[in-house]
Amino acid sequence: MSPEPRRRALITGIAGQDGSYLAEQLVDAGYAVHGIVRPTSSLANLAGVGDRLVLHEGDVGVPATIRRALEVSEPDEIYHLAAPTFVPDSWLAPAGTIEGIAVAGADLLAAVRELAPDAHVVLASSREIFGIPVSSPQDESTPCHPGTPYGVAKLAVHQLVGLLRDRQDLHLSSAILFNHESVRRPANFVTRKVTRAAAAISLGLEQELVLGDLDAVRDWSAATDIMAGMRLMAGQDEPGDFVLASGVGHSVGDLVRAAFAEVGLDPDVHLRVDDGLRRPPEPVAPVGDPARARELLGWSVTTSFEDLIGEMVRADLDRLS
Ligand code: GDP
Repeated sequence: MSPEPRRRALITGIAGQDGSYLAEQLVDAGYAVHGIVRPTSSLANLAGVGDRLVLHEGDVGVPATIRRALEVSEPDEIYHLAAPTFVPDSWLAPAGTIEGIAVAGADLLAAVRELAPDAHVVLASSREIFGIPVSSPQDESTPCHPGTPYGVAKLAVHQLVGLLRDRQDLHLSSAILFNHESVRRPANFVTRKVTRAAAAISLGLEQELVLGDLDAVRDWSAATDIMAGMRLMAGQDEPGDFVLASGVGHSVGDLVRAAFAEVGLDPDVHLRVDDGLRRPPEPVAPVGDPARARELLGWSVTTSFEDLIGEMVRADLDRLS
């Protein structure tokens, strides 16, 4: 009896936080993993698995890049993660955001239909599609009223996924991702900004941490858990949309306390609030309801908020010492 053929995956955005963790998980599971990287991408996140990947250089916004990668990789599973990620930047470049997220997503779906119609495809959507939500927690049926150009672009792809899944009988799933963090999170995101500052202050390298708003609430999970959820989505017989979230909200103040506790410092001594960094108020907390993923995928987060923040602080201590 011949052995089962090795499963094959294609990841767009493989060099980013999410793509690199997903690549590690798929390599560990025995997949042949292909990924698309921009010529300018740092490959630092892929240090542990880079020699076991096939990397295709190009911009996912250029259809020829996707088409070539699909033809060479012949994937059973496709994960579309490549996109601009820092939401406030989308106000600076709405057209570029629509292009990088919505147009690139639509081009990818068209190429999949032509070149890999049997592949199971999971696209990274975002809780930004809900905008400032009307009710909390949010689930797959919560009305969408995006409040940023980023959210508008993500909603276009999210709805296109649903439409093409129904009309073209493709295995397309949309993962509605809430905030997910790791030691690979860039420092413009508030988690990493705080963990890096806690480490720097405890080492005597910096004196204070300046934040915009301590009351803002987010549903933060570990990126590794969220990637495990996306893999389970690809593994389903039936495609669908799933909220992937911890289901628990924490404030920025909670985040600061958890990070400073890790280094034994009193945050009040080192914290300053600058209204210039404050964003519009959010009367309803953006917290996800992962019940559908729990019931149908058997998925839930395994890393607690405190463990996640503790690990990030320790990694920043290592880097800075
Ligand atoms: P987002 O959920 O995609 O916007 O992820 P961020 O990590 O950038 O922000 C999370 C929350 O932290 C938002 O509600 C911000 O208003 C709040 N926040 C408070 N102070 C800061 C800050 O100094 N930087 C950032 N990035 N966010 C801050």
